Amino acid sequence: MTKPKISSDWLAGCAGCHMSLLDIDERIIQVAELADLRSTPITDLKTPDESGVDVGILEGGINNSYNEEVALRMRKRCKILVALGDCAVFGGVPAMRNFFPLEDVLKRAYVEAESNDESGRIPSDPELATPTRVRALEEVVPVDVFVPGCPPDADVIFYVLSELAQGRKPVLKGDKLQWH
Ligand code: SF4
Repeated sequence: MTKPKISSDWLAGCAGCHMSLLDIDERIIQVAELADLRSTPITDLKTPDESGVDVGILEGGINNSYNEEVALRMRKRCKILVALGDCAVFGGVPAMRNFFPLEDVLKRAYVEAESNDESGRIPSDPELATPTRVRALEEVVPVDVFVPGCPPDADVIFYVLSELAQGRKPVLKGDKLQWH
């Protein structure tokens, strides 16, 4: 029997959700036995197969045009799209910037932040001049499975992966998962 293909990618986040995925430890072998693990940001293959995958997993919110491009590509190439973590589910930490004017946010990040020296300045990149707000994944593409948490617990991620790898829909358990 052909194994379902799973790909993942990340958008505006901190990589913590993928680190939590790695926290499933040796259970990754069980997942690999059930599914064909394809592209991820932490392996050599970076983009999902053009011919498509069964499950696409995205961490992070939509913060810029590149994030949007990655989200659209994954949505186009996967049958089931999983929003992994609070940033993907509702914008999470990056969306905190939505409460402030873009200019103030850029100044804080590139000039005032304690990690900058006196040469810090706002880069002249057209991307940074676009007054977007951070959006949840579902505001840009339809999402099939929501996995909240910052990051989601490794046990929850293992449960979601193993269910999807076996062609089953993860079921609602408390407030941890939601299937559309
Ligand atoms: S949900 Fe939390 S752990 Fe995951 S990318 Fe966002 S900030 Fe990082």
